[in-house]
Amino acid sequence: MTAAAFDYHAPGSIDEAVGLLADHGTSARLLAGGQSLVPAMLARHARPAHVIDINRIARAERPTVLGGRVRIPPLMRHIDFDPVAVRGPLGELLAELSGHISHLPVRLRGTFCGALANADPASEWGLAAVVLDAELVARSAKRGARVLAATEFFEAMSATVLADDEMLVEVQLPLLPSGTRHGFCEVCPRAGHYAVAMALVVLDRDMDEVGDVRIGVGAVEPVPRRLPDAEALLSGRAPSRKLLREVADAAADLVDPHGDAFADAAWRRDLTRTVALRALERSLR
Ligand SMILES: Cc1cc2nc3c(=O)[nH]c(=O)nc-3n(C[C@H](O)[C@H](O)[C@H](O)COP(=O)(O)OP(=O)(O)OC[C@H]3O[C@@H](n4cnc5c(N)ncnc54)[C@H](O)[C@@H]3O)c2cc1C
Repeated sequence: MTAAAFDYHAPGSIDEAVGLLADHGTSARLLAGGQSLVPAMLARHARPAHVIDINRIARAERPTVLGGRVRIPPLMRHIDFDPVAVRGPLGELLAELSGHISHLPVRLRGTFCGALANADPASEWGLAAVVLDAELVARSAKRGARVLAATEFFEAMSATVLADDEMLVEVQLPLLPSGTRHGFCEVCPRAGHYAVAMALVVLDRDMDEVGDVRIGVGAVEPVPRRLPDAEALLSGRAPSRKLLREVADAAADLVDPHGDAFADAAWRRDLTRTVALRALERSLR
């Protein structure tokens, strides 16, 4: 199938892009990497009357570091995170996650901000944003900029709190202290496909004990989320094989999985246990 007819706009600046969004409202869609929007348009699941191509707005596609935070620009592509774009544990974590996103052609075009705006529950960046306490900067022509916590950004499957006239113009991630470790694991029905369950663990370890720990799961529920009750089981304790199993069991009990054509809810719960355990083990290697 081909896409329905639309007017094409190629703004040269963010101001111009948000101005076009204000003019055309619900009938307009931003085009970033096009890796989700274009297939949706070709299948006619999306039929925007106006397509606003933001690929000409900013040349800077590299992150900047300011005040202990990494600022990710709107057109930073998945591939730009690997090799490591930011020094230290945060850069290593982002580089690893980028390698899990689909195939090379998707990674070459798709963007970090586009993936967040697209709000697929199986987005690796969505899970990272929630686990790493990202702050998202949304801008509109009429109301200016507002900052949203990642935890309040995702509303439901494929839905965010972004208004029709808002563009995600920056995502900020706090740098991780040196010595921070991470573990990630996901299960995909086939290579390059979206995952059906994923877990990300970020922790620091003081001598024999685990200090601060964050555990998040994605692709299991409509939005990615952290599991504070599972984190509390591990924080301040010496990790053993038995304890990690208890934490993974708790993660599986805490989620309320959805079912779809690739995995029913019961299997997703089982997979949550598996990916959580592997991510925990990897974080402690
Ligand atoms: C075969 C295949 C496999 C894939 N597998 C994965 C995977 O495993 N993991 C994963 O995370 N993704 C996967 N994707 C999706 C891919 O990562 C997309 O790149 C991403 O979801 C959307 O980013 P984009 O830049 O391509 O956005 P686009 O497709 O251009 O846009 C997607 C949506 O976001 C909106 N948007 C884009 N940028 C902004 C912005 N700055 N502000 C506000 N709204 C914006 C658009 O209007 C549109 O509604 C896959 C895609 C394909 C085709």
